[in-house]
Amino acid sequence: MTDDRELGELMYKKAISFLDKRFPQGWGGCAIMYTAEEQFLISVAFESFNAAACLCMETGAMCEAQKYNLKITHSLCVSRDNENESPQILTACGICQERLRYWGDDVKIAVSNPENKIIFKKISELNPYYWGEVFPEEDREEYKEGALLL
Ligand SMILES: [Zn+2]
Repeated sequence: MTDDRELGELMYKKAISFLDKRFPQGWGGCAIMYTAEEQFLISVAFESFNAAACLCMETGAMCEAQKYNLKITHSLCVSRDNENESPQILTACGICQERLRYWGDDVKIAVSNPENKIIFKKISELNPYYWGEVFPEEDREEYKEGALLL
């Protein structure tokens, strides 16, 4: 799938459908990633009594992608206060952007905006002065095409 608008709408729809099942009442949130292999990976925040042990909603999908050596191309994260609200799009936080860099600086992230439109921005647009650029590419831990474990 190459059309970002169409893909974004599909990702958003899948995220809502997941939220309706996983969080039928009250707060709900999840992240959905799309990969070059046309897989959709959905994950939720890791909750813990110890706030320092919590993890962002995107983390599980990224771990899953690394496990199967899938190439993430798009990321979208949503949250809603209750089941009657339309989920708001949340831009991936700084650490998630840092993690998503593993798949290159052209990974597209859906960004928060006042109209809650699905707008994708490349990581390189969100953070054009990335610190890692000062290091040679071969020194960076990044996605490499290889064995797929699907
Ligand atoms: Zn995050």
